[in-house]
Amino acid sequence: MARDFSWIKPEPWGIHVVPADSWIDPARPVDRALVTHGHADHARGGHGATLATPETLAIMKLRYQTDAGAQPTAYGETISLGGGVDATWLPAGHVLGSAQILLEHAGERIIVTGDYKRRADPTCPPFAVTPCDVLVTEATFGLPVFRHPPVEHEVAKLLKALAENPDRCVLVGAYALGKAQRLIAEVRRAGHSAPIYLHGAMERMCRLYQEFGVDLGDLRLVSDAKKEDIVGHIVVSPPSALNDRWSRRLPDPITAMASGWMRVRQRARQRMVELPLVISDHADWDELTQTVVDVNPYETWITHGREEAMLRWCQLHQRRAKALALVGYEDEDD
Ligand SMILES: [Zn+2]
Ligand SMILES: [Zn+2]
Repeated sequence: MARDFSWIKPEPWGIHVVPADSWIDPARPVDRALVTHGHADHARGGHGATLATPETLAIMKLRYQTDAGAQPTAYGETISLGGGVDATWLPAGHVLGSAQILLEHAGERIIVTGDYKRRADPTCPPFAVTPCDVLVTEATFGLPVFRHPPVEHEVAKLLKALAENPDRCVLVGAYALGKAQRLIAEVRRAGHSAPIYLHGAMERMCRLYQEFGVDLGDLRLVSDAKKEDIVGHIVVSPPSALNDRWSRRLPDPITAMASGWMRVRQRARQRMVELPLVISDHADWDELTQTVVDVNPYETWITHGREEAMLRWCQLHQRRAKALALVGYEDEDD
């Protein structure tokens, strides 16, 4: 008998878990939201109840100044949503607190990955490969051209530029949630213990990571420092600050940016980035296809990015698959 998994319904503004009347990462306010992680395109405010990991709820509280309706769900803990649906949040390896959501109903298992990656990240636990009937996978970098280099390689490029330019600084554009902290943690792992200077917009999220036990070392604010203090150091700012007036207070910065899109030269040029660092918190093409192989679901639903190439890959490998058209997802977090 064909299985239609009709108890879970992808709608343009989110995935509806019908018997429990709950929504995964809804783009509009709902009575009960199941949130995979804190990026703004997934975690919106204004829901009646929000179920997410404690880390994600803390990130949402920081951003929306309220935790009304927050219901923490620890990794691996199974909770009943009513209507015969159980839900379990499993590590997704994307950013602090990020989760895949496993839903179980009438003997069927559906996993919504949210955003994920398969590589080690010192700021969050690794993606948990978990058997299921339907895997709903993101596909942000779902083209064979996207193959992210090892993060160590990109960090070495950054530290080399710093060492070769002792009278300048390196200004790295990185998204305030996830990318900035991972970059800093990887720089620390490479043995760089000098102070790292932050744009004011990064401070609170970095402190939150530290409160959850992620060691980011000696962090200082650009606004508290003199220009000469910053010579020879790494500065981290949001991408939007790279080319604005704020950066004039820095000593002759080498402009860098940490993003999976830095693979695309035109994107680096648009932002006038001298030192593109290909560091992504999303699975690249090999990780996406390997994840389908590892999880080996009965059916794969593809969303959130470039669905067509993944769909073709699944068909080519005799795997049942379909593309979902969800709206409201933008790259806050590439
Ligand atoms: Zn994300
Ligand atoms: Zn996303």
